[in-house]
Amino acid sequence: MHRPEPPMSSPPSPAVDSAQHRDLRLEMVRSQLQMQGIKKREVLEAMRKVPRHQFVPDSIRPYAYRDQALPIGFGATISQPYIVALMTELLDLKPWHKVLEIGTGSGYQAAILAELAKAVYSIEIVEELAIRARRDLAAAGYARVQVRYGDGYLGWPEQAPFDRIMITAAPPSIPEALIEQVAPGGRLVAPEGASPQTQQLIIVDKARDGRVSRSTSIPVIFVPMVPKPAPVKP
Ligand code: SAH
Repeated sequence: MHRPEPPMSSPPSPAVDSAQHRDLRLEMVRSQLQMQGIKKREVLEAMRKVPRHQFVPDSIRPYAYRDQALPIGFGATISQPYIVALMTELLDLKPWHKVLEIGTGSGYQAAILAELAKAVYSIEIVEELAIRARRDLAAAGYARVQVRYGDGYLGWPEQAPFDRIMITAAPPSIPEALIEQVAPGGRLVAPEGASPQTQQLIIVDKARDGRVSRSTSIPVIFVPMVPKPAPVKP
């Protein structure tokens, strides 16, 4: 695809949607998602609809629809569109589902989840990112996504159980507290691995009787899921 490079001196474009951005999304869905095997109609539709460029900082907005992850500050990245679509497809969402995401980052994945589920809760450990994601979600019409600044290792006990949980940062092993917060019959999708070289996408299913089973999808590279630092003692 021809991608004109805007001059670096161009002023930041306002975070609005346009016919040009919609064309970029249609092309992204065709050339990145469908070509790589994403099939679920609702997932493709959500990826066509959510204005990905409105969830990235001004400086990288021209690259928002590229086939890659992009830095969004504070050590976080917005995942590659294909990975967002794959994880969303694997989550197998139904319109009545209550979903928890760990690692709000830009808020983009949360917006995709909000297109497909009834209620979305998302936890972010970097306060600045949580604030920015709340703002960008509201501006794009997803104010109903609940963003909490806090440690995802604890989950969101007051709202548990969740029909689905998606972790978008990689823990060395999937936290037990999060598996506990999956409803019977529910599913959790997460990258897992102690180092970026060894991460794999894992699917955890909880049967109606509470039995937990795991399967492995593809190798992935996510930023590590970090524990919240202990408070400094006075
Ligand atoms: N889903 C995001 C991508 C997030 S990148 C998006 O759509 O843009 C991973 C994010 O996880 C980073 O923002 C990072 O700060 C956050 N994170 C890392 N450890 C965490 C933890 N223990 N709890 C909550 N968020 C965490």
